[in-house]
Amino acid sequence: MKQPWKKRALGVALLMVIGFLAWTKGESVVQVVAPHDAVRTLVIDAGHGGFDGGAIGSNGTTEQDINLSIAKRVRLLASFFGVQTAMTREDENALGYDASRSIRDNKVTDIQAREQIVKSASDPVFLSIHLNKFSDAQYHGAQVFYSTNHAGSRALAELLQDALIVGCDPTNTRQAKPADRNIYLMKTLECPAVIVECGFLSNPAEETLLGDPEYHKKLAASIVTGYLRYESGI
Ligand SMILES: [Zn+2]
Repeated sequence: MKQPWKKRALGVALLMVIGFLAWTKGESVVQVVAPHDAVRTLVIDAGHGGFDGGAIGSNGTTEQDINLSIAKRVRLLASFFGVQTAMTREDENALGYDASRSIRDNKVTDIQAREQIVKSASDPVFLSIHLNKFSDAQYHGAQVFYSTNHAGSRALAELLQDALIVGCDPTNTRQAKPADRNIYLMKTLECPAVIVECGFLSNPAEETLLGDPEYHKKLAASIVTGYLRYESGI
């Protein structure tokens, strides 16, 4: 008699072992196959890249590299829990960069390429990872912003905000807020869409934390915890 559940259980166990080993070693690129019945896709967006480095901290920390490190860890951990994922960028480069074009044109190409990745994913949930910066160094703490185009965005943002407070900084009193309507992807995407600002590079203590790969793991674990709660409707 065939026992397909055994095969599946074995597959899941194998997936968990692969994911766990990679996680403990801090490896960033491991492809884990999602279960066949997973339809929803978590599209993980590492903000900036290439010519667009994003914010720079007082000791030279650049946003784009940290965003990518956190994004890869989110993918790894989400895959470990059987979430189907897609990444907008897998390396340090911007999307569709052409040195002969203006910075403005390259920015448009890059953001439209990210939009296309989201739109071609099945049942997408868009999660963009960024770092904050402000003129006053005292401000700190992760904060989540949501698109107002889809009711799910706010629910997801609030669960992510909660998970980031519990997992990374219990003194953080920030609340999830609607994203600025001028942010292209928050305006154009119709699916659940959020921006996670993981902390302030302008705050020296938080900049140090954000430069530590161990802290990236904490951020990723919090983000995935919030996402899984959203997915399971808790
Ligand atoms: Zn940014």
